[in-house]
Amino acid sequence: MVCPHCKAATEVKNSRQQRRVNGVWRRRVCTTCGTVFTTLERADLSSLVRVASSPTALAPFSRDRLFLSLYESCRHRQSAITDASNLTEQVIGRLLHKAAEPGYITREHIIRACRSVLQTFDEAAATYYAAYHPL
Ligand SMILES: [Zn+2]
Repeated sequence: MVCPHCKAATEVKNSRQQRRVNGVWRRRVCTTCGTVFTTLERADLSSLVRVASSPTALAPFSRDRLFLSLYESCRHRQSAITDASNLTEQVIGRLLHKAAEPGYITREHIIRACRSVLQTFDEAAATYYAAYHPL
């Protein structure tokens, strides 16, 4: 990976496994301008998980779309962005388990996983989510 500022080569100075998001975190330093930045490597879910969008079509899974739906439900909370980010990881954990067998998930799988995770997290968020995501 090149430096975001000057496009020169970078070196990895530190690297750690991140279990919560199943990724690898790396601290990088630019060999030319000295800029320090971090990268997070994780599985590309759009290539790993397909969503049955109709009886005959499969669409790539979108982490951003899931995050936004959870964020909308948590907007009343001051920590909405962090909460939605953590909830997204929890929901993805459940969905990956479901997607392994047939190779795809359905809209209903996503909604049920979100409702279940929100139910134990915040009742108002769960109610909001259910109102905008009927089964
Ligand atoms: Zn640089």
